[in-house]
Amino acid sequence: MDRTPESAHLSNEDRIQAILRLESDIRSCTRCRLCETRTHTVPGEGDFSPQIVFVGEGPGAEEDRLGRPFVGRSGRFLDGMIESVGLRREDVFITSVVKCRPPDNRDPRPDELAACWPYLDRQIELLAPSVVVTLGRFSMQRWFPGERITRIHGQTKQISPGRMALAMFHPAAALRNPRWRDAFAADMQKLPGLLEQL
Ligand code: SF4
Repeated sequence: MDRTPESAHLSNEDRIQAILRLESDIRSCTRCRLCETRTHTVPGEGDFSPQIVFVGEGPGAEEDRLGRPFVGRSGRFLDGMIESVGLRREDVFITSVVKCRPPDNRDPRPDELAACWPYLDRQIELLAPSVVVTLGRFSMQRWFPGERITRIHGQTKQISPGRMALAMFHPAAALRNPRWRDAFAADMQKLPGLLEQL
């Protein structure tokens, strides 16, 4: 399988070991105040050689309880949408911009985002996907700074050689608003063509 330059120098075994070490680092992380209120960290889960990485905002109550990403209602919706393009949850990797739950599901703060970004950057470097799907405004801001999700959802951008970002609504927002739900479904349908192009 083709690997991007960042991870190309590692054997597959070393790459997988590095992913597991990173997960272990996340599980014991105290870099920001969110460590004080979490039950479990949620590093992410899925295939370690995925074509697609989905990046959400942060764990909610169920995710914090179980230590797994997108396991509540939004997760079931996301799973169904992934299946609508012929993939399974196990085929992709799902993570978020902060790995610990913000109390009462408040927005992650800038210093928390900054503290956690290096984990996400390293995950993407090691997982080496062809497509990074941003779910919601916080992960969108990472690769589409200054944009508005209502304006740019469905748009793609090259973020490194052989790697594109696709901006999408957050599944929870799509569940709240029928119009955004339709947009979410339509944006998801862009993935097969995008993968083929890459
Ligand atoms: S949110 Fe990220 S930076 Fe903050 S404690 Fe959790 S893993 Fe560490």
